[in-house]
Amino acid sequence: MAAEKFTTIIIGAGPAGSTAAYLLAKAGLDVLLIERGESPGSKNMFGGRMYSFALNRIIPNFWEEAPLERPVVRETVTMIAGDKSISLTFQEDNWATPPYHSFTLLRAEFDAWLASKAEEAGAMLACNIRVDDVLLENGRVVGVRAGDDELLADVVIAADGANSLITEKAGLRPRLSPRQVATGVKQVIELPAETISQRFQLTGNNGAAHLFVGSCTRGIQGGGFLYTNKNSVSLGLVINAAELQRYPYQISELLEDFKAQPFIAPLIEGGRVAEYSAHLVPEAGLHMMPRLVGNGILVVGDAAGFVLNLGYLVRGMDLAIGSGEAAAQAVMEAKARHDFSQRGLSVYQDILKKSFVWRDLDFYHQVPHFLENQRLYRLYPQLATGIAAEMFTVSDAPPVHLLGKIMAQIKKYQISLTQLASDAWKGGRVL
Ligand SMILES: Cc1cc2nc3c(=O)[nH]c(=O)nc-3n(C[C@H](O)[C@H](O)[C@H](O)COP(=O)(O)OP(=O)(O)OC[C@H]3O[C@@H](n4cnc5c(N)ncnc54)[C@H](O)[C@@H]3O)c2cc1C
Repeated sequence: MAAEKFTTIIIGAGPAGSTAAYLLAKAGLDVLLIERGESPGSKNMFGGRMYSFALNRIIPNFWEEAPLERPVVRETVTMIAGDKSISLTFQEDNWATPPYHSFTLLRAEFDAWLASKAEEAGAMLACNIRVDDVLLENGRVVGVRAGDDELLADVVIAADGANSLITEKAGLRPRLSPRQVATGVKQVIELPAETISQRFQLTGNNGAAHLFVGSCTRGIQGGGFLYTNKNSVSLGLVINAAELQRYPYQISELLEDFKAQPFIAPLIEGGRVAEYSAHLVPEAGLHMMPRLVGNGILVVGDAAGFVLNLGYLVRGMDLAIGSGEAAAQAVMEAKARHDFSQRGLSVYQDILKKSFVWRDLDFYHQVPHFLENQRLYRLYPQLATGIAAEMFTVSDAPPVHLLGKIMAQIKKYQISLTQLASDAWKGGRVL
């Protein structure tokens, strides 16, 4: 193929890449969106829920046409310690009405729809093509190479996800270290819609999001998730990659363990595993951010490490969409000034810093370090469930006041009060 030239080449048709492609094509720029999968989303997976606000800014009332599963109305966080568990549940029925707080969704359908919006707006989508490298001319990115093909562009947007080869090749980031990423595994387990609604006590098409910590990962840094879709549940684990290396377990084995736990097994009983997938999750937030702007290149979404895991909620899709939006604005400004150099494109950082993406990543920048505290995964689930067991157990033993029960458990697990207070204080501050 002779070298073709575009204003923008976007590598990766995930939410970040397709958002940028949609906005740029809508503004009349010629855009090539390249995806290595057979179709957008075919190589993608996530836990299961997207917060709505970011996409609603780009495609107002997107829920009227996007392939979505269920609006989430219930949040539950559960600590598991062996056969005991303790949960905190919050329900907001208003979240099932516009503008819908969040939706569960399946990426194969959703990503294909978002990329089709970019196509409708005029972007060219090329699937089944893996970009191998960027083309450099005098230290400036001038296009991409895919196999034997060379494609030229004024600007390239790296939207190729967590394990971004492109940011590495463009010299914007060193190789990721296992401490900076988690490994996620997920099964989509099919069940009839009525069974899901009954088992999760949901009305109509309402959905639930459920996160777990503790023995679901055998006490290793990470957690479990379960999201209800229309006719399936998405169930999985996310475990820090460096921590996982320290143990002789396979993550697939841990997932089977999780599925068999008394809390989970009845929820998925009789279900058919329709899909199994694994993917990396950026974990270090701003601490793993590559250089976002190079000569002729910008980095968005997971490729930039834009994921927020707060332990009780996970955000990546909205940050990907928000950074795709910021990159599109930056490219439009650079085009207006005919300057796609690093200087011309550096407006991306200014736009991003004024956006919710940067605001939220910065606000929670201490969370990744806080979540490295190993007590969160073994000791505190044991302590919390131990206290609950004392509270709810009635026997012929003499009664003890609640404070006495709590102190007895603290003593049993040999936690110093100073340590406990310090962890609670830190958690309260950084979260
Ligand atoms: C287990 C797990 C659970 C998660 N849970 C949630 C959740 O519940 N809610 C939430 O908001 N976020 C969640 N996330 C994070 C979320 O999935 C990401 O933040 C989001 O997908 C990032 O979008 P992106 O467009 O930057 O990258 P991606 O979605 O990864 O898309 C990158 C695209 O680039 C393509 N690509 C890669 N390399 C090349 C190449 N060389 N050439 C061409 N194409 C290429 C890929 O095929 C892919 O389509 C989770 C992630 C995981 C792994």
